[in-house]
Parts: sequence; C-alpha cells; structure tokens
Amino acid sequence: MRYLFSLLIIMSLFLYACGSGSDSKSNGKSKPKIAIAGLGIESSTFSPAITEAAAFHPRRGEEVLGYYPFFDEGSELRAAAEWIPALIGKSLPGGAVSREAYESLVTELLDSLKKNLPYDGLFFDIHGAMSVVGMDDAEGDLITRIREVIGTGTVISTSMDLHGNVTETLAAYSDLITCYRMAPHEDAMESKQRAVRNLLERIQSGKGKPAYKASIAIPILLPGEQTSTRIEPGKSLYAEVGPAADQEGIVDAAIWMGYPWADEPRNHAQVVVVGDDEGKVRTTAESLARKFWDARCEFDFVAPTASLDEAIAMALRSKKKPYVISDTGDNPTAGGAGDVTKTLTDVLSNPAFKSPNGPTFIYASIPGPELVEKALQVGVGQAVEGYVGAMVDDRFAPPLKLKGTVYFIKEGDRNAEVEVVLKINNNYIIVTKKRKPYHKEHDFTDLDLQPRKADILMVKIGYLEPELYNLRGDWVMALTAGGVDQNLVELPYKRIQRPMFPLDKDMEDPDLTAKLVPLSHQYRPNK
Ligand SMILES: [Zn+2]
Repeated sequence: MRYLFSLLIIMSLFLYACGSGSDSKSNGKSKPKIAIAGLGIESSTFSPAITEAAAFHPRRGEEVLGYYPFFDEGSELRAAAEWIPALIGKSLPGGAVSREAYESLVTELLDSLKKNLPYDGLFFDIHGAMSVVGMDDAEGDLITRIREVIGTGTVISTSMDLHGNVTETLAAYSDLITCYRMAPHEDAMESKQRAVRNLLERIQSGKGKPAYKASIAIPILLPGEQTSTRIEPGKSLYAEVGPAADQEGIVDAAIWMGYPWADEPRNHAQVVVVGDDEGKVRTTAESLARKFWDARCEFDFVAPTASLDEAIAMALRSKKKPYVISDTGDNPTAGGAGDVTKTLTDVLSNPAFKSPNGPTFIYASIPGPELVEKALQVGVGQAVEGYVGAMVDDRFAPPLKLKGTVYFIKEGDRNAEVEVVLKINNNYIIVTKKRKPYHKEHDFTDLDLQPRKADILMVKIGYLEPELYNLRGDWVMALTAGGVDQNLVELPYKRIQRPMFPLDKDMEDPDLTAKLVPLSHQYRPNK
C-alpha cells in the first residue's frame, strides 16, 4: 500500500514536471487555445467596382468551424485544441474594398478576439490580395492590428492563396506562413490544414515560433493564366515546394506568384521558407527563387489565346464540341466587375448567332437585375426584354438590350440570388441578379442547360476550372476587355516596383539572396 502511494507521488511529480515546461498543455488535460480569423478577397485596382462588407459573407462562431472540413465534429484536429473562432470572411474577387467595409469587418474581428484573450495560437486565413481603398498593404494592416490585441507571444500561422502578396510586415508578424501549391487551387483546404497542423505541432511540442524566416522578393508579375501548375514551367517549379518543405530543419516553404491586377508596391512574386535550421532555410529559399527566375521566359498562356473575333471564328469552324471560349478580360474570379457587355454585344451582333438554326450557344453570364425582375413577373415561356450589364464597368460598352424568351428561372443561389436563362434564337444567355462565377457543370445543368451538348460555351473565366476543363471539346482564351485584362504590358501601372518582368523584359538579374525576416516579437514596423 505504502509502495503504491509512493509510486503515485512519483508519477504525479513526473506529470507536473512534464507539464510545466512551457505551459501546462502537454499533460493532456488542458488544450492549447487557438483563435481563427481572417478576410479573403483578391481585388483589382484596375476595376471601377467597389466591394462592400456583405460580399464577404462573414462567418462567426460555429459557422467558422463549419467552413473547414478538417474541423468536422469528431475529427482529430477538432479535438486537439480549444478553437476560438473570431470572424472569417471570403468574398468573390472584385474591385477594391471600401474603407468603411474594411473597418467594420476589422472592428468586429478585433472585438471578438478581445473577448477570449490570451491565445496560444492564431490561424490567420487570408487570400493576400485584398486591396482596400487608400491602403497599400491591407493584410499587413490587419495582422498589425491583430498583434496589437493578442500580443507578440501568440504563434500566428498564416495561410494564403499563391496569388496573394507578402510584405515584410505580413511575413514578420506571421510566425508560420504558407500558400497553396496548385493552380487551379485543388489543394486549398489541404494547405489550410497544413497551416493548422504546423501551428498545433509547434505549440504542442513546446517549440513555439520557428527561429528563422527567409524571404526573397522576385521581380516577376504574371497572370494566373500563365502560371498554372498543370503545365510547365509552373508544374516543375511547384513540384519542388513539397520536398523543400519536408526537409529536416524546415517547417514550411512557399512560392507566391503575386496578384497582377493591383497597382501596389507589394505586387510581385515571393518565396518564404520557415524553419529552425538557418542554413537550410536560406539555401532552400534561394534555390526556389533561382529556379523561378531562371524559368521566367518559359511562362506562357495555358491555352491558345485569340482576339474575340478570332476565337468565334475558330469555334464556328471546329468540329470539337463544346468549344469553350474564356471571356478572360472580365473574369469575376480574378477581380473583374463581371458586368462588361462588350463581348456579349459583339457575339450577338455576329450574323452566325442571329438565326434560330445557328450554333447552340451558352453564355455565362451577365448581371441584369432589371431584366431578372421582369422575367420573374412574366415567368418561364414568356417574352421579355430589358437592359443588362455595364452598371459597374461601362468603360468598354453601354448596357446591352436583350429581347428573348424566358427559358428557365432559378432562385436561391448564394451569389447570383436569381438566375434567368434567356433564349434568343439558339443562344442561351444566363442573366443573374448579382454576379456569379460559372465553374461547375451543375451550375449549368441546374438551369436545364446541357453544356456538353452545346456547340459553343462561353464563360467569364480565365483558365478553366477542372470540371469545365474536363468537359471541353476544345478551348481558346479570348483576350477580351475588362478590369483583368490579360495583356499586363498594357495596364497603366504606376506604383509597382520596377524593373519588373515581363514589363521590363531586358532587365538585369536581380539580387536573389535570402533575407531573414524579423521574428514577430522583434519586429518594429516603421510607420
Ligand atoms: Zn488564386
């Protein structure tokens, strides 16, 4: 009995000693307390559109956890910590965020964080290309204000889109920072999960913040349509990231392509490697940056490109159905207003599309709330006419008058709210109440449209998302007008850093030496 009693004392002393290293979390009784916060949008400063707070569909409390499949009830990650959701918001890409919208979201996010201080960790889930009217580094501002609330002791793990931008402030105040490794972003959730796992591992092991962050700015700015990881050289470049991150002494490694449709000094490519082995962190960053720079001239569009007239002529000649044409200049998922009418105006004035016996043509999509309202009043099968488009971006063509028969109406879409298919001759034009991207086959079949059987399918999109890519007979990217013009050389940049490839084609080789970013508790931003 006495023996058993001494054993219990020894065991409890042992548990106490184990648990009191950095905190009391590793004894299995109390879990680390980790906040979740972030705002995600890529917003074009070349679009006249302005994004307001509601576009972020802000999530609070349990809704935040519900966004991430890896936090499902009963999952290992869910059980591993006490998760404290502050606020997350995700918007479709668009124009710059209004200052009022940004301030209202940030105020709520910070107020929520203040209620549950202190935190062991914070999962910072952002896109990284949020332009806010009058600000140059919105995510840098956001993380600075988060640090003012939670302090610099909390470990922050930042997860981003590879089209985001990394400033010194963002890199310094993040202890772990990573981004997707695939474009299209089939690994989005996997990347977020990696950011969360790494954060947990650092906290649970007591290792805390990694000791080194090596960062290299690369003076390259390319559109996503040239940097897909499905094809070379993006494929080989991004294939290096996983093995680089898996090395002993490295926690994570990431390459950002950057966002080309904003005119801010931070818009360029970047490499950041985080870890505890200074030498490896530096050399890994330098090797990734060098590989990127050396491949710069090989980046090209992921599909053939053509002017709109050429694209239509190619589609009409082709026997491969459906012939998919990307209406790239006004791609809402890159930040276009999504309501430029120039392309649709030109198509419908082409004689080939004026006959009931013309090619089966599906167009996705154009916002037209007034016409949608009229369609709702008259109903399916009835004639309707009204103006669509050019409410936000009328720089290229005025609102377009459409006259046809209501073919289908669907209500309740999260983005579009109401979708109306208008049949004009053999053309099926999708008119929405609010803008919406059409990336999935069901986006069409839900409207009783059969994209696989269409002759020509035209979508406001850049590179095709996987489902459209898989159903295509053939595909061309039309270099059309809009806020995300693919011809970057023509964009009126004034504030990005120069020289920049490919704007300054013959520029000299840049300095690709890794620079160590200050750790979050040592960083003193110069305001
Ligand atoms: Zn992206």
